[in-house]
Amino acid sequence: MKRINLQRARTQIARPTTIRDINKRIVLSYVRDRAPISRADIARETELHRSTVSMIIDDLLADELIVEMGSGVSTGGRRPTLFELKSGKATAIAIDLTPRLTTVAVADLAGNILEKETFSTSPDIEFMTSQIIDRTKRLAEKYGDEDLQIGMSVPGLVDQRLGKIFHIPYFDWRDWDICQRLEEATGLPVIVENDANATALAELWFGHEKIRKTDTFVTVLVGEGIGTGIIFDGQVYRGEKGAGGEFGHMIAGDDAPVECSCGSRECWEAYASENAAVERYRQRIKSSEMKGNDIDMQSIVELASNGEKHAVEAIRETGKYLGNGISNLIVGLSPQVVVVSGRITKAWDTFADQLYRVTERSVLAGLPPTDLMPSSLGDAPTLIGACCLVLARKFGSV
Ligand SMILES: [Zn+2]
Repeated sequence: MKRINLQRARTQIARPTTIRDINKRIVLSYVRDRAPISRADIARETELHRSTVSMIIDDLLADELIVEMGSGVSTGGRRPTLFELKSGKATAIAIDLTPRLTTVAVADLAGNILEKETFSTSPDIEFMTSQIIDRTKRLAEKYGDEDLQIGMSVPGLVDQRLGKIFHIPYFDWRDWDICQRLEEATGLPVIVENDANATALAELWFGHEKIRKTDTFVTVLVGEGIGTGIIFDGQVYRGEKGAGGEFGHMIAGDDAPVECSCGSRECWEAYASENAAVERYRQRIKSSEMKGNDIDMQSIVELASNGEKHAVEAIRETGKYLGNGISNLIVGLSPQVVVVSGRITKAWDTFADQLYRVTERSVLAGLPPTDLMPSSLGDAPTLIGACCLVLARKFGSV
């Protein structure tokens, strides 16, 4: 779990309206971060009064956010009761929209998925709106809890603070009012975020230990397109109107194998996305007797892992362009870590040398070394990201 910077959390929590709310979040964050932990330990570390901590612990127990987990070692008197987060209680409804699939899931405070349903994403915006609302409503009613919140990850331009989705380029949906309609339909608050930023948040909370201990890192989400999420000083960097980190559209050449979602053949994502890898593979097998009809990224990754020549070449060439773009990110941002996620990472050994050469290049140029690694979050980093939007707000850390 993410070790949040608790000192920072103490000064940054400005949203809640009462001191008691603020203190509640601080105590909850300590339980999450340091469990098993006793009242005395929390009081000592937070510098809150013992009686305040005891009162808050009672609240959190009554709210079923934490549970007792036995007794600690006595330091003279009674053995102290230890606490941890309560798992299994529905806390977040996570909605993860990707160009291919959409998932609606329920997660607990520790980020465990309790239930999920996945369906094909349709380019029909009204159909998708009603599908998402119906499924979310069903789960909200089933797990009915006044503390439930909804987190939503989408592949597009989002103003996280205003809860507005401006554009989903893949389907050319503009000013999608799903958040408002979800709130009206369920009565629950909705937090929406760009998929790459949500992934960055997921890495910060649940990623590789090295990433969780890092203040400045970049996630590169390779899917049908490319998204980048930037964490600066432990916070998601969003830029003006949430449009920061759109490195997928930086110019990488002028003859990419596919069009970018914006229609250009110059963008990095047109060179280094799954779509680019699939197209490269298709072109390579055109002249051979193999059929390319059922080819998708999943099968290319499997073929490459088994050493199939065309798949290996397609992945390696895509890896080369991925590396070029990452090199630009490294020289521009000097992150401590760059983490790559998406299905291409299943063939990591096939192309990793293409990426490592760019980190060597930046070191040769006198820059501090950047660690490069595949994500440890599995197949659905954006779903975990959608959960983290809610968790981050609950714990008041981001
Ligand atoms: Zn573009």
